[in-house]
Amino acid sequence: MIDYIVVGSGIVGSFIAWELSKYNLKVLVLEKESDIANGQTIANSGIIHSGHDPLENTLKAKLCVRGNLLYRKLETKLQIPLRKTGAYVIAHSKEDLKVLADLQKRALYNGVKEVFLLSKEEALKEVKNLKENIKGVLSLPSTMVTFPWEVCFNLLENAIENGVELELNQEVTKIVKKRDYYVVVTNNKTEYQTKGIINSTGVYSDIIASYIEKEVPFKIIPRRGEYFVLDHSVANYLTKVIYPLPDIKGKGVLLTPQVHGNILIGPNAEEILDRDDLATTKEGLEYVKTEALKQAKNIPFHANIRTFSGIRASSTYQDFYIKESKLNKKVFHLGGIDSPGLTAAPAISEYLINLINQKYPLTKKQNFKDFQKTKSSFKNASIKEKTRLIKEKPLHGKIVCRCELVTEQEIIEAINSPIGVDTIKGIKKHTRAGAGLCQGGYCENLILKIIAREKQKKLTKINYYEKNTPILLKESKET
Ligand SMILES: Cc1cc2nc3c(=O)[nH]c(=O)nc-3n(C[C@H](O)[C@H](O)[C@H](O)COP(=O)(O)OP(=O)(O)OC[C@H]3O[C@@H](n4cnc5c(N)ncnc54)[C@H](O)[C@@H]3O)c2cc1C
Repeated sequence: MIDYIVVGSGIVGSFIAWELSKYNLKVLVLEKESDIANGQTIANSGIIHSGHDPLENTLKAKLCVRGNLLYRKLETKLQIPLRKTGAYVIAHSKEDLKVLADLQKRALYNGVKEVFLLSKEEALKEVKNLKENIKGVLSLPSTMVTFPWEVCFNLLENAIENGVELELNQEVTKIVKKRDYYVVVTNNKTEYQTKGIINSTGVYSDIIASYIEKEVPFKIIPRRGEYFVLDHSVANYLTKVIYPLPDIKGKGVLLTPQVHGNILIGPNAEEILDRDDLATTKEGLEYVKTEALKQAKNIPFHANIRTFSGIRASSTYQDFYIKESKLNKKVFHLGGIDSPGLTAAPAISEYLINLINQKYPLTKKQNFKDFQKTKSSFKNASIKEKTRLIKEKPLHGKIVCRCELVTEQEIIEAINSPIGVDTIKGIKKHTRAGAGLCQGGYCENLILKIIAREKQKKLTKINYYEKNTPILLKESKET
């Protein structure tokens, strides 16, 4: 009998699974996709917000500020990629300056320690590309950026090392209540018996809740955000996160330097009906461009290498909903985990574990193993280190992705990692092969062959991403 099934392996499910792996519990993570972190967690701005804009006294405010602190605390322990950029919120008029002053008060009330009002001149000295017509900025030095799915890999790898099980391609489709346990049923007709369920399924959280609740206390209102991704060759253009003033729809269109040197421009916020509709639109992207150009000049859009969109799990509840079911013991729902859910994730999991522990006391494992793996990429290694790596494992000498300098050895290690990947998109997520300027134009066919070889499968059986998305439909003469 399982103690807790965590449904969903986004940043929230991954932090929860990792926290639970510290206790004497049998824990299983079920994920509907072929890889972890493919929901909101793969399609967001990657910002660890300081906590300046959530409304006072909300869970969003409390857990955002706490989450920001926890990322710093866990940085070394979990090898979390963090770039301490800081951020500016921009004012364009005298009225905007009043809003900045209110935001400063809100930030201080929320517990943000460092938050300063700066003059136009001070701001332009730091960030040369801001528009000259700005009137002043709110500086938030504690804002950072991360790479969310890389955090999930480390969390789940460590959780798996400590006994948590992960099953991919298992979409929960039904929950049956028995006398003192539950049967969780998936699309493959697999049945799991469990004493507890944690519903961390992002935009699907109200649907999963409806499998077991008579009344679901929140309804998801999917809100899509679209982005441009600029190549890391223009990394020097921007070193700080740039926010406009927040409005009713959220934080607005941002300019965000990323951990690996790319720059993100976006997102917009559009309510949509279909929670799977990850399209990018001409109108959406034009809006993003226009709004971004109000904050900064000469944005190097010529270096755009792709566009994408993500769907926020906004909800009718307005705040994060993190509660035990009223009628079903040990069933916990996490609803409306939209922004700042990435930032808050470690604090959300801490908050949930406290809820569980208060009612159903947990006992700590004596033999919890800390995260040991040293995760450094070949690209970032020194020449001396590169030479050593190639000597130790000669396939580090074969560069597969030239844009991001990813070696064949790194791809093989990703395929055989505890989470394991066997798709082109999975390799891109785990190693960055295909994430560069040519977007896989040069290396995808090489990666295809490596996956086929390692998995001993036919080339036509290798998918781009999910089931039935093969790149090759028929064998060619060459193969
Ligand atoms: C455009 C955009 C920008 C954002 N920017 C930021 C930001 O800069 N900073 C910040 O703090 N937050 C940001 N957020 C919010 C943040 O991304 C989310 O709050 C966070 O990723 C939520 O994580 P999660 O694990 O709850 O959900 P998700 O990442 O969506 O994970 C849910 C998981 O559940 C799985 N699942 C769903 N249904 C089932 C089922 N039936 N069976 C099994 N598995 C299932 C999904 O496949 C998915 O893997 C942004 C969000 C968006 C969309």
